[in-house]
Amino acid sequence: VWENCLLFIKDNINPQAYKTWFEPIKPVKLTETALSIQVPSRFFYEWLEEHYIKLLKTALTRELGEGAKLIYAIKMENTLKGMEPFTEKIPSSNRSIQSSQSVDAPVRSKSPELKNPFIIPGIRNVKIESQLNPSYNFDSFLEGDSNRLARSAGMAVANKPGGTSFNPLLIFGGVGLGKTHLAHAIGVGIKENYPDKTALYISAEKFTQQYIESVRKNNRNDFIHFYQIVDVLIVDDIQFFAGKASTQDVFFHIFNHLHQNGKQVILTSDKKPVDMQDIEQRLLSRFKWGLSAELNHPDYETRVSIIKNKLYRDGVEMDDDIIHYLADNIKTNIRELEGAIISLIAHSSFNRKDITIDLARKIVENYVKNTKREISIDQIQQVVSDYFQMDVETLQSKTRKRHIVQARQLAMYFSKKMTKASLASIGSQIGKRDHATVLHACKTVDNLASTDKQFNKYVEDLSKKLTN
Ligand code: ADP
Ligand code: MG
Repeated sequence: VWENCLLFIKDNINPQAYKTWFEPIKPVKLTETALSIQVPSRFFYEWLEEHYIKLLKTALTRELGEGAKLIYAIKMENTLKGMEPFTEKIPSSNRSIQSSQSVDAPVRSKSPELKNPFIIPGIRNVKIESQLNPSYNFDSFLEGDSNRLARSAGMAVANKPGGTSFNPLLIFGGVGLGKTHLAHAIGVGIKENYPDKTALYISAEKFTQQYIESVRKNNRNDFIHFYQIVDVLIVDDIQFFAGKASTQDVFFHIFNHLHQNGKQVILTSDKKPVDMQDIEQRLLSRFKWGLSAELNHPDYETRVSIIKNKLYRDGVEMDDDIIHYLADNIKTNIRELEGAIISLIAHSSFNRKDITIDLARKIVENYVKNTKREISIDQIQQVVSDYFQMDVETLQSKTRKRHIVQARQLAMYFSKKMTKASLASIGSQIGKRDHATVLHACKTVDNLASTDKQFNKYVEDLSKKLTN
C-alpha cells in the first residue's frame, strides 16, 4: 500500500522533495483502514503535516478509501533535548510514539513532553534512558579554530569521564554555535567508550520543569536520587537557571554529590560564568573548579566545510559559488547556516527550480533580516499580552473568551514565525497546549489576517513591535 502511495506521491512532486521528505519514511503497520508510518524526527513530522498533508491524504484515500487514517510514529533515537518520556520496558528498536489521527482531523496527540518522565517512585535498578542523540557525535562535529579547545577538552572527557581536571566541563558560546551538539557528542562518546556507564542529557529547562513537578507531587527526593545515580550528567543551557533559586539549590546539591563521587558533569551556557546573572555565587564558583571552554564564531574555512558536510549528508548537490556565497554571508550562527540550506532545498523543491545563486540571495536576505536575534516565546507572550492589555496568565488561561483566544493564537503564530521552536514546544510554553492547537492557531491567524481588517491590523502592529 505504501509503495503505491509513494508512486502516486512521486508523480506529484519533484524528485528533490520526494527524496528529502518521502524516502526516509518507513511503513510500519497496516490495517484495513489505517497505515502507520515511521518518520525520523518530530521536525520531519511537523514538516509533513504542514506541507504534504493533502498529498498524503489523497494518496492514502486512493489506496484505502474514504476515512483512511494515517498514523505517525516518530523515531525516538533522533529526538533532541530529552523530550521523550522515560520508558523502561519497550525495547529501543520499536519505541515510537502515539498520535493516531485521521488525516483530516487536526492532529491531537498526547504530548510526549512534560509527563515528568524520569521519576519512577521507589527506584531500584532503574535503567536510565540517556536522551542522547547519536547523530550528534564527534565525527559530525567538524573541527576548526573556533572550537578546537572545546572540542578537544570534550574528547578528553569522553575518554576519561570524571578522570580529568575538566570537571565540570562548561562549554559556553553564542546561539547556534554547537554547544548542544558538542554536549551530546561527549555523552555519545562516553557511551561508546564505556557502555556500562549511565549518561544522561537534560536541558536546564526540562530539569527545572521536572523539579517543580516533583515538588508538586511530593517526590522531590526521588528526583534528587534519580540524578545522583548517574555517572555522567549533561545539563544544557544552564543560563536558564538564572533567577530560579530553588532549582539552583537542588542542582547545587546534586552537583556536589556527583562531583564528590568522581562523576562527570558537563554544562553548557550561552554566557560565560562571569556574565551569568542571577546565578548563586556558590554555584558559579563550582563551575570554576573545572574548565570553561568557549565556542567562537566559525571561521570561513569551517563554515564552508560545515555546509559541504551538511549537503553531503542530505545527498544534495550545490554549486561551489553558492556554497561560498552562503559561507560569506551567514557568519555568526551555524544553525542559521543550516537553516538557510534547508530553506534553499525546500524552496527549490516546492517551486521545482534548481538551486541558483539568485534563490540563495533571496533566502539569505530573509534569513539575515528575520533571524538577527531570536526573540523568545516568553518575550512574544509578554508583548502580545501588553498589546491587548491583559497579563500573561490570562493569555495562557483556559478561557474561551474570544479576544483572549485571539491573543493566544497570535502569540502562537508569532512564536512559530519568529522562533525555531517546534509546534509542540510552543504549545507547551503557551499554557500547555498541544502541537495541533498551535498548528490550528497559525492557520486561523493566516485566515483571519486576510479576511478581517481589524485583525490584520493586530497582526501588523504586533509584527512591528516584535521586530523592534
Ligand atoms: P547551540 O546549542 O550552541 O545553540 P547547536 O549545538 O544546536 O548550537 O548547533 C546548531 C547547529 O549547528 C546544529 O545543527 C549543529 O549540528 C550544527 N553545528 C554546530 N557546530 C558544528 C560543527 N562544529 N560541525 C558541524 N555542525 C555543527
Ligand atoms: Mg543548544
